[in-house]
Amino acid sequence: MAKTIGIVTSGGDAPGMNAAIRAVTRVGHSMGFQVLGFERGWDGLLTNTFKKLTPRSVGGIIQLGGTMLHTLRCPAFEQPGAVETGAETLQQNNVDAVVVIGGDGSFRGALELGKKSDALMIGVPATIDNDVYGTDETIGFDTAVNTAVNIIDKIRDTAISHERIFIVEVMGRKRGFLALEVGMCIGAEVILIPENPMHLEDICRIMDDNAKKGKRAGIIITAEGFGNSSELAQNIQRQTESEVRLSILGYAQRGGSPTARSRLLASLFAERAVELICEEKGNLAVGLQRGAVASIELEKAANERKHLDLRLLKVANMLSI
Ligand code: ADP
Repeated sequence: MAKTIGIVTSGGDAPGMNAAIRAVTRVGHSMGFQVLGFERGWDGLLTNTFKKLTPRSVGGIIQLGGTMLHTLRCPAFEQPGAVETGAETLQQNNVDAVVVIGGDGSFRGALELGKKSDALMIGVPATIDNDVYGTDETIGFDTAVNTAVNIIDKIRDTAISHERIFIVEVMGRKRGFLALEVGMCIGAEVILIPENPMHLEDICRIMDDNAKKGKRAGIIITAEGFGNSSELAQNIQRQTESEVRLSILGYAQRGGSPTARSRLLASLFAERAVELICEEKGNLAVGLQRGAVASIELEKAANERKHLDLRLLKVANMLSI
């Protein structure tokens, strides 16, 4: 009987998850595996809900955002006995390996499941937050950066016309990877990220200095993890002479057709994931390290904190004078 790979997409969706599902399925099939796609994240393992994936059934999805398997934050999977139920589902369907496509939370789920199951666990990092240890970039990050940049370029037009300050909040959960890269690429006047706390007075001083230099419009990019954006907007309006508007980009950043780069990463990560399974290696996560596809221990990818290079912030600040 053919060996079986199970795919799970879990946690926050990211553009390129579909490209990863397609690539695991097609590479898996060409290596002689059958592939099952569990639905709605880890819930699919609790309810034994899956569809058989074939090279044909994953046709026409490489360009689609989201995930055809649906995804879920599934607190039930963290309850006592849940991973045991998941392990039983894997055994019942003769699943030899699980490829989990998601962020560090999803990887922690896979780690726990791996303690109760003989199936190999492989993590494929996919999140717009780019906050997974062991990979320079996650699937979906590039798409989210481009989506945010496209929208903020439009906001810049109105900011200049009305000579206003716009505070634009981008996603990123507790980290500033997305805000930093977006801020750099839209030429933000100030970038606020959790990794670099900044006082209100310092932010206002920069905006006042800019106004004195003849720069009356400006964009402040703030990461959702930095703090309360509407309070920040009110405080800046109060302390500066400028009109301030707030724009929270929200969920648009999570959707849309994946960029070429997100599709490429998805395809290469998935190929390596199946290769590891062929070598009977488990408890690993794939990732990009210095431009090459690599793998690291799943435990590290799940639990270690990824370093954010603050030199990028320094460059962005130099460019915003
Ligand atoms: P992401 O993968 O995007 O970081 P979350 O942090 O929401 O997303 O995690 C996704 C899911 O992974 C959780 O909803 C839960 O089902 C599962 N998970 C996370 N930690 C554990 C754990 N310690 N044990 C079992 N499941 C877990």
